Amino acid sequence: MKITNRYGVPDNLVTLASREYYTKGKSQYSVTELLSPPRVKRLREKHNENIEQDVADMLWQLLGSALHVVFERSQSPGFVTEERLFCEVDGVTISGQIDVQQETPEGVVIIDYKFTSAWAVMQDKVEWEEQLNVYAWLLQKVKGKPVAGLKICAMIRDFSRHDKREDYPDAPIHMLEIPLWDFEVTERFVKERLHQHQLSKMQMELGENLPQCSDAERWMSETVYAVKREGRKTAIRLFKTIEEANELAIKEKGYVESRIGEPRRCAGNFCGVAEYCDQYSQWLGKQPGGTAEAERQ
Ligand code: SF4
Repeated sequence: MKITNRYGVPDNLVTLASREYYTKGKSQYSVTELLSPPRVKRLREKHNENIEQDVADMLWQLLGSALHVVFERSQSPGFVTEERLFCEVDGVTISGQIDVQQETPEGVVIIDYKFTSAWAVMQDKVEWEEQLNVYAWLLQKVKGKPVAGLKICAMIRDFSRHDKREDYPDAPIHMLEIPLWDFEVTERFVKERLHQHQLSKMQMELGENLPQCSDAERWMSETVYAVKREGRKTAIRLFKTIEEANELAIKEKGYVESRIGEPRRCAGNFCGVAEYCDQYSQWLGKQPGGTAEAERQ
């Protein structure tokens, strides 16, 4: 991946952004890659040299990396930090770097730092649960130690003391408990993910279509229908069905505006490969006024 500097920020930031704080060593898959959609991994491999990201768009990654480096420096008895573990599964090496392992009499508590938003900690984050459970599985496989618990230490970058919503975190650093799965359940999950990735690799080599990203993987937002009235900027109410929206629009002498759901991960290019993805270009082609681009896998 090439790091560009379109806004003329100091070069040392570009050097920092180009440095890889996390390398997966000799493994074929990091835990993060294993959990990412196979289509994203394959397209990234294929187009890696042409993918560009501007340093000015990497603020949160840079701050996240900086925090990890600072935390690594603070050593406390009973805590193991930033350890990368390797494990072979069905002939493939997987690795994962665990931020913190806290030794307790009941076993190891795994803690992962997340530099994130208040909104994120208020949602059920399935991907955090998957990631920490795969770390737990890795730790048990490699070190043979029991795992006593999983926690996220969330650094909330947009924390506000004035937000009084019910589930809003109390402080800018917020601890979250994550459910721990059975070892066998996680092992089956890891093998299934690995199988999907290996299959996509074969499909790519054979020139076949890559598996599609699911709606959840594309962060598909819901289509909603807004009831609006002339002269009013905001919607009176949002509905999931057009019938309900039409009913209120008639009563209110207003009109209905359709807000079509979109794959936010693709649209914001959060996967980094949107411009090379035929699944996304085909979705764009189906939208009103959209044009289907050539398939470019
Ligand atoms: S653009 Fe969307 S569909 Fe394509 S790889 Fe990225 S997330 Fe998946």
